[in-house]
Amino acid sequence: MAGRIQSVAVIGDGPAGSTLAALLAKRGIRVGLFSRGRPKLPLIGESTVPALIPILRELGVEDEVASYSVFKPGATFTVHPGERLVIDFDEVRGRAPGYAYNVLRDRFDATLLDVCAKNGTQIFETTARLKRVPGNDVRGEGSRVRLTRATLAETDGFFATPPDFIVDASGRSRMIPRILGLPERTGNRRDTALFAHCRGVPIDNEGHVHTDRLERGWSWRIPLVDRVSIGVVIDPTALQALGDHADEQFDAICQSDPQLAKTAGCAERITPVLKFTNYQLTVRRGIGPGWALVGDCLGFIDPVFSSGVFLAMDGAKRLAEALLEGSSSALERYDRRQRRHIEAWHQAVGYFYDGRFFAMLRLRNQPHDNWIGRLVSPHAATHLPRVFTGESTARFYERNLLAAMMKYGLGSLEDPNWARWQIA
Ligand SMILES: Cc1cc2nc3c(=O)[nH]c(=O)nc-3n(C[C@H](O)[C@H](O)[C@H](O)COP(=O)(O)OP(=O)(O)OC[C@H]3O[C@@H](n4cnc5c(N)ncnc54)[C@H](O)[C@@H]3O)c2cc1C
Repeated sequence: MAGRIQSVAVIGDGPAGSTLAALLAKRGIRVGLFSRGRPKLPLIGESTVPALIPILRELGVEDEVASYSVFKPGATFTVHPGERLVIDFDEVRGRAPGYAYNVLRDRFDATLLDVCAKNGTQIFETTARLKRVPGNDVRGEGSRVRLTRATLAETDGFFATPPDFIVDASGRSRMIPRILGLPERTGNRRDTALFAHCRGVPIDNEGHVHTDRLERGWSWRIPLVDRVSIGVVIDPTALQALGDHADEQFDAICQSDPQLAKTAGCAERITPVLKFTNYQLTVRRGIGPGWALVGDCLGFIDPVFSSGVFLAMDGAKRLAEALLEGSSSALERYDRRQRRHIEAWHQAVGYFYDGRFFAMLRLRNQPHDNWIGRLVSPHAATHLPRVFTGESTARFYERNLLAAMMKYGLGSLEDPNWARWQIA
């Protein structure tokens, strides 16, 4: 790459774009961020993981975020009515703090955007548009993109000449991947997620994100300050008979599933229901000449384990470091690391859907009748959950310990057939 990067255009005002812009502007890079505004509806992505806290501290926003959020000391999983398994973040913590927050995303995103502006980012309230730069490179990832003339004009001279670098943080809009036709990898689940805010929803453990296994699929309960976020993740064919619209389907399933009837059956829904489909998607290459992808634009795995906002902000931090270093090898390192990180979450999420995650949590509570079990179990009981708090997801030791445990350790369960906890 020729010379130091001095100006960067960031497309998108979500956690990824704002974090990146704030960190670059703080170090003297000229940053323009495009924000197209959002509809006045609840934003998805409210439960966070402990590994996010150090990034909030680095941005200097933890106290502000805490002021409108719910303190989250752990996660509760209902395997079936009558059996709950709990991860207490403080008990399993290593270097990361023993808590996280449940955030209202519009407030959270506004906090991050505010840090950008304070650090010197110029924010343009408009939809950025891009064009592929014609060239003879047939592979999308080798092609360049540029902001259209109209978009440059809307910056009122800020980008009098095109920026040195463009970062696509447009979330699931995935502007650069679409324009360049970048290859993608989809996950093996084809679930639909229905999501709304409700009042009058019972919470078993204060502040915990609750993940409940349903007859088909699963649901979340995220306690927020004066409401609870409810999401239902389910095979779309199971919704077809429940009505044509998301609202009808959500209300109907809250009555018909036995577990949901207990948690959401008497709830008052206070927002429209939003629907998300085909969200398991990763772009195979996150960098190219003069551009990079970050956050959901690069990849999103699944809502379970609340990894999205952390992956977006952690990725933004790593990309900021690479851009400040300014070399091609630094960007290559960013791309490799991010895709490894996404892959690690992918693996962890797989254990949830195939039932082995529940088997592992149960194993922690079992008495062990042999010395290996007695020796390994306390160690595993603290290290393994760190994969799910974000602290160790991509770390070689924990990741392989988990893989080995999943392969060899589950034989000591009363019922070795962990498949009965699969998510249908
Ligand atoms: C069903 C579901 C449940 C989820 N639950 C959780 C959870 O509990 N916890 C969690 O951590 N994550 C969760 N996520 C994931 C989380 O929402 C995302 O990972 C996170 O928002 C990614 O941040 P981002 O900045 O990459 O993208 P986004 O938050 O999507 O931000 C992108 C922004 O870019 C803007 N934009 C797009 N195109 C343009 C343009 N051309 N010009 C200007 N602006 C543009 C958009 O308007 C948007 O504001 C969930 C996701 C789904 C689908």
